[in-house]
Amino acid sequence: MSKFCRFPSLVLLVALLVAAGCAAPAPSREDDRILVVATTGMIGDSARRIAGEHAQVVTMMGPGIDPHLYKATQSDVANLTQADAILYNGLHLEGKMGDVLVKVARTRPVVAVSETVPEDALREPPAFAGQYDPHIWFDVSLWAQTLDPIVNVFAEIDPAHADEFRANAEAYRTELEELDAWVEQRIAEIPERRRVLITAHDAFGYFGLRYEIEVVGLQGISTLAEAGLQDMERVVAKVVDNGIKAIFVESSVPRRSIEAVQAAVRSHDREVVIGGELFSDAMGPDGTPEGTYPGMVRSNVETIVGALK
Ligand SMILES: [Zn+2]
Repeated sequence: MSKFCRFPSLVLLVALLVAAGCAAPAPSREDDRILVVATTGMIGDSARRIAGEHAQVVTMMGPGIDPHLYKATQSDVANLTQADAILYNGLHLEGKMGDVLVKVARTRPVVAVSETVPEDALREPPAFAGQYDPHIWFDVSLWAQTLDPIVNVFAEIDPAHADEFRANAEAYRTELEELDAWVEQRIAEIPERRRVLITAHDAFGYFGLRYEIEVVGLQGISTLAEAGLQDMERVVAKVVDNGIKAIFVESSVPRRSIEAVQAAVRSHDREVVIGGELFSDAMGPDGTPEGTYPGMVRSNVETIVGALK
């Protein structure tokens, strides 16, 4: 039954079937395009680029939202139960949404975009016992590998436009490859001894690996565990010992923990500035350059290079 509801060409039939309980009229569905729900902005951006004009993409987590802590709202659940496809990051990024995603997966395609990233490319930090680091979008070359699952599910639910989805994905992949090379080149401009990135939580591990910058996070891979006194001492020692000039706040994590590092460094008679705000687990507002994935990456890199160079 739900299969019928998926095809936009059958929208009139669907409308007739509403009375029969096939589908409730969706407040979120604006027209006969496929309706796609993405958890994070970065995934929503990929979906938009690949679908072009053929999908309405709803992103659940807007600017400043922390995906580790996010719980589906009532309107999210309404969107999820009407969507033609649901895209999520996986690797436990959406730590509080597991049950909801399992439930909706019974009636519609629910796709983890990380599923095509080879296991040997995934980080498995010791502090995050037995689980992979989910922040794969920080390595632009890895993120370019997450487009295929999106193309495949779109081609399945809207086969008439499959060729267009593939061509759009190819164009986006090329853009991402260029972006990857640009990031590498920009980070290499920071003198090697100053290439240390201190942030609120350990989101930048893939960034550090790919672009050769040491990464130190105050909190762990997930923001679920609060930073403890030991974490604070470890980070403050790093700043003081290495003479680090700047540390960074993140748009989706409260500033206070990084401000506490700054205060603790001052108590050692040293000065460290807050080098700016990085977009870690959420993009910037819609309609701004940082509201797109490539723009978010560029903004982060400019902020990091500007403060550390
Ligand atoms: Zn994170």
